[in-house]
Amino acid sequence: MPPARGAARRVLLIAATDSSGGAGLTRDLQTLSAWRTEACCAVTAVTAQSDAQVRSIWPVPTGCIADQIRGALTDEHIGAIKIGMLASAAIIDTVAAQLPATAGLPIVLDPVLVASSGGRLLEADGIARLRDVLLGRATLLTPNLPEAAALLQQPLAGSETQMLQQMRALQRRGAAAVLLKGGHEAAAGDGQVTDRLLLPDGQVRYLRVPRVAGARRGTGCSAASAIAAQLAAGMDLTAACAGAQAYVAAALRGEPWRSP
Ligand code: PLP
Repeated sequence: MPPARGAARRVLLIAATDSSGGAGLTRDLQTLSAWRTEACCAVTAVTAQSDAQVRSIWPVPTGCIADQIRGALTDEHIGAIKIGMLASAAIIDTVAAQLPATAGLPIVLDPVLVASSGGRLLEADGIARLRDVLLGRATLLTPNLPEAAALLQQPLAGSETQMLQQMRALQRRGAAAVLLKGGHEAAAGDGQVTDRLLLPDGQVRYLRVPRVAGARRGTGCSAASAIAAQLAAGMDLTAACAGAQAYVAAALRGEPWRSP
C-alpha cells in the first residue's frame, strides 16, 4: 500500500498545462505547495507556449476530462475547486456537467481568456458559454478588468462607478461573489493597486497593496489558487482574497513564492 496522504483539505485544479511554466497548472501547483495544500487535478488542455507566444493548444478529449473530475471527486478530502483555462465551449459544458457532484464545495472560477503574450486561450464562442453556464456555479469569480469587460461584452470599465456596475452585473449573472483585480487599472497617485471584492450580501471590500513595477506571468493563476487553498482550509472570502493579494505582491517583488 502506498503511504496515506495527509487528511488536510485538498484543492481540485481544473486547468491547463503551460509548457513555458509561466502560468497554468505549473503555477497552480507551485502556489498550492507554498500554501501547504495538496492538489488533485483534471487537465483540460495541453498548451505549447513560450513567454512571448501561445504556439498551440491541444484540448484534452471531453470524456477524459469528465473522468478525471469523477476520479478526483472520489477523494473525500477535497475542500475547494479552482477552475482555470477551459479552451472551448465543449469543455465548459463538460466541466459544468460534472459540477452537480461538487455541491457544497467552494469554486473559484478564474475566467482565463487571453495570455499576456496576446494569444487566445478560450475560443471566441466560449466566452458567452462561460458566462451563461459556469458563472452560476462560482463561489468567487476572479476577473481582471479586461476579462470582466469581455464577459459582459462591454467596454473596459474606466471609473469606479463602471467597475462596481460590472461587478454587480457579473453577480446578477450568477457568481456568488466577484473579485475584480485592479492590476490593469491606470496607476493611482497613491502608488497602490486596488482589488475590489463584491461579497454575496452586496457589500464591497477594497483590498489594497503597494503597486510593483513590471509584470510577471501567471499572477491570475496564482491568485485564484491561493484563494482556493485558503477556502479549502476554512478561511472566509475576504481574508482569503487579502492573503492571495499579499502572496502575489510578494512574488512580483521577486520574493520566493512562499505563503505568509
Ligand atoms: N496559459 C495557461 C495554461 C493559463 O491557465 C493561463 C492563465 O490562467 C495563461 C496561460 C495566462 O497567463 P499569463 O497571462 O500570465 O500569460
